Amino acid sequence: MSDSLERDAKYLSPALGRAHHIVAVKAKGSYITDEQGDNYLDLTSGIAVNQIGHAHPEIVEAIAKQAADCIHTSCVVHYPANIDLAEKLAQIMPGNLQTSFFCNSGAEAVDGSMKLVKLAQPGRNNVFVHRGSFHGRTLGATSLTTSKSSYRRYYDPILTGIHTTEFPNIYEQGTLKARKFLINHLKDIFHNYMDTAVHPQSVSAIYIEPVLGEGGYIPAPGIGEEENYLQFLRDYCDEHGILLVFDEVQCGFARTGKMFASEYYGVVPDIQLMAKGLSGGVPLGAFSASHELMSKMPPGSHGSTWGGNPIACRASLKLIEILERDNIMQNVLDRSNQVFDFFEKHFEGSDTRKAVADGSPRTNEPNRGHGFSAYHNAKIQLRGLGLMIALVFPDNETATKVKEHCFKEKILTLSCGSFGNIIRLAPDLTISEEDLQKGLDAIANILK
Ligand code: PLP
Repeated sequence: MSDSLERDAKYLSPALGRAHHIVAVKAKGSYITDEQGDNYLDLTSGIAVNQIGHAHPEIVEAIAKQAADCIHTSCVVHYPANIDLAEKLAQIMPGNLQTSFFCNSGAEAVDGSMKLVKLAQPGRNNVFVHRGSFHGRTLGATSLTTSKSSYRRYYDPILTGIHTTEFPNIYEQGTLKARKFLINHLKDIFHNYMDTAVHPQSVSAIYIEPVLGEGGYIPAPGIGEEENYLQFLRDYCDEHGILLVFDEVQCGFARTGKMFASEYYGVVPDIQLMAKGLSGGVPLGAFSASHELMSKMPPGSHGSTWGGNPIACRASLKLIEILERDNIMQNVLDRSNQVFDFFEKHFEGSDTRKAVADGSPRTNEPNRGHGFSAYHNAKIQLRGLGLMIALVFPDNETATKVKEHCFKEKILTLSCGSFGNIIRLAPDLTISEEDLQKGLDAIANILK
């Protein structure tokens, strides 16, 4: 064990696990360099954060310039970076999401939104979340999280009034008919729960990740279909005065090939949560709503010392400029297709073809997924949207082997899913075809 790792074990809390035990001293583009001078291809982008790679020179420059002008004032005064970013977000977010509260992380964005929901919906003490979702590690966000029971094991009971409904996993149900059946079945369960256990008028909000993240990279069903699952939630919320909250912390900011994943469904939430890819690697989170809704939070009802600090806001503004200017979303779609094409070529199963023939929007669309197919000796299911791609294996041993093999080949991957049987590919959105292929070849070799 290196000296750094020994000191890490001694002085840093064991609560925070690490996927790989190397010590990064430099990171640039799609690569991380460790203290031995070895370069690792990073297919994780800091857990779906570094949208345009590590240390993009223009982000570095924007940070340096802002640092020279003003690093921090907190809410003692107003400052332009914060105002500029809020205005820019209002321009790029869907619908009338115009007003933002800035914080430092995804979990803080979730907690802040829970306060907004409480203030806007007095007397409605129930909230719905989707099973398999991950919303963060603060106590509020943990109470909404159901992607792994180990996240809550030591802390239950946390907040009360949190109810869970199924996240529709269309990938277990290959054909269009089966998908429609599943969605209708889940709608029935949902209605039934509201009829028998929780009156809809007592529900303040429904939270959902448009693409389930930590829970296994599953897009909500119905992309390209009018009756999609998010539209069902929108209609239900409108009917019963419930607020719809989209957690775009992981799937937002171009990761799926659109600025926000909700755009695939044409559905606008009442509250949108953002963090991770929002700010080029600098901590920043936000929850946004219409001006009218946000005005339910009176002055002083929420706050943050660092939230929306000048450096993070300038990094975010530069990132958005680059995402728009360099047509990064095209690269997301091209690289996504590269992954699907590569594995599909080798699939021996036929169920992928069946799903396509059924009218599914998967082929040549960014939304594609399959039942388990044989890839050489391994059984594998491929699913995802844009550069949120999951390689699903029947068991966690296979996923772990793949991850370890990649690490030996100096490629960093992460697992996800409730059972640890998924390798997720979430590289930076600017990754080159060659670098991505290097990662795919390494994965293919171990599967063979
Ligand atoms: N929401 C989603 C969808 C996430 O994926 C995460 C983190 O993985 C969070 C919230 C929490 O974000 P943070 O780790 O910045 O608190």
